[in-house]
Amino acid sequence: MPSGRICGLAVKDVRFPTSLEQHGSDAMHTDPDYSAAYVIIETDSGTRGFGLTFTVGKGTEIVVCAVQALRPLVLGKTLDDITADFRSFYRLLTSDGQMRWVGPEKGVIHLATAAVLNAVWDLWARAEGKPVWKLLVDMTPEQLVSCIDFRYISDALTDQEALDILRKGQESKQQREEQMMIEGYPAYTTSCAWLGYPDQQLTQLCSQALADGWTAFKVKVGADLDDDIRRCRLIRQMIGPEKILMIDANQRWDVGEAVAWVTRLSEFQPLWIEEPTSPDDILGHAHISKALAPLGIGVASGEQCHNRVMFKQFFLGRPRSMLMASKFNGVCELVQHLILFDYICVSGSLEKRMCEYVDHLHEHFKNPTIIHNAHYMPPMAPGFSSEMVESSVEKHTFPQGEVWRTVNQL
Ligand SMILES: [Mg+2]
Repeated sequence: MPSGRICGLAVKDVRFPTSLEQHGSDAMHTDPDYSAAYVIIETDSGTRGFGLTFTVGKGTEIVVCAVQALRPLVLGKTLDDITADFRSFYRLLTSDGQMRWVGPEKGVIHLATAAVLNAVWDLWARAEGKPVWKLLVDMTPEQLVSCIDFRYISDALTDQEALDILRKGQESKQQREEQMMIEGYPAYTTSCAWLGYPDQQLTQLCSQALADGWTAFKVKVGADLDDDIRRCRLIRQMIGPEKILMIDANQRWDVGEAVAWVTRLSEFQPLWIEEPTSPDDILGHAHISKALAPLGIGVASGEQCHNRVMFKQFFLGRPRSMLMASKFNGVCELVQHLILFDYICVSGSLEKRMCEYVDHLHEHFKNPTIIHNAHYMPPMAPGFSSEMVESSVEKHTFPQGEVWRTVNQL
């Protein structure tokens, strides 16, 4: 592993003015500028690691500041130091005796930690000459478990139980890997029906998506019931009764309101309602799930789930009758590695599983996602697919980049 010692950690505030065209708009985030705190780790051997955490504009400078606070914990380490005991490295970042007070493991510090850890995984995979998904697939169950911090979750999952799951996942993994190389992993699209898109745009994008082979579509809802009914009807008519429709309220409602509103939309047979209420309200989600179960509508959450402790409660708290979709949010480029690993080595199943795809800004990545017939094709370049094109980073750096100097003059 010729990776050298970490001698630099730079972080940039990179923002794309997506709000100008309403890309990404939903009931709560009406004018998002898709952004990132972008981390570049330098080693004295010349190998670099790139990582990012997703934000939607204002406040990215706070995440950048938090990354800078983590920098001293990373500088001077070799990749060998880190990978020999990844669990301790994770703890070092998340359990600093003073810094953990501004978390722990949630909010800005959690986003900053994610950007740094993603950059370290990128560095690790590059040193091994593999994409991250393949690095994970080739690890032994013991190595994988040694990377995970089981603190606070051992009442739900012990390291021994995780080992058992992963050992079982080793069976026929070669076959599943070959299958993924040919078929790819099933995806759904969110890009047709952002809340701020007019009906004409929605119709046009939806018919294009149908022509491209998409079979599952997500619609943003929650601001105005009449609009939601009209937009869901439009999409359902276009895609027909067999294809999948999902709706996403991005945390807009109180619990009772969520049940009433989604009941009104049940005629369009959504597979799930995503983030109906506060992302922190585990009991509220369970209540909504129970109420909507007779209608055959599931509840999805996880997009702003801070950490494993919350996931534990979501999983343990669900009633048996409840349909609960869990959703691990992230930028498509990164998430594709995790779903491939999950299928090949953990779940071994594609039943009721698909991964979100958002068709914006891929051109700014060095190794953008490849979608064939609505499936993610496994990325083959070494790393986490997280490196951005240098000129894009330069132009979109906030506020001094060329793009922002222009936007701010508008
Ligand atoms: Mg969402």
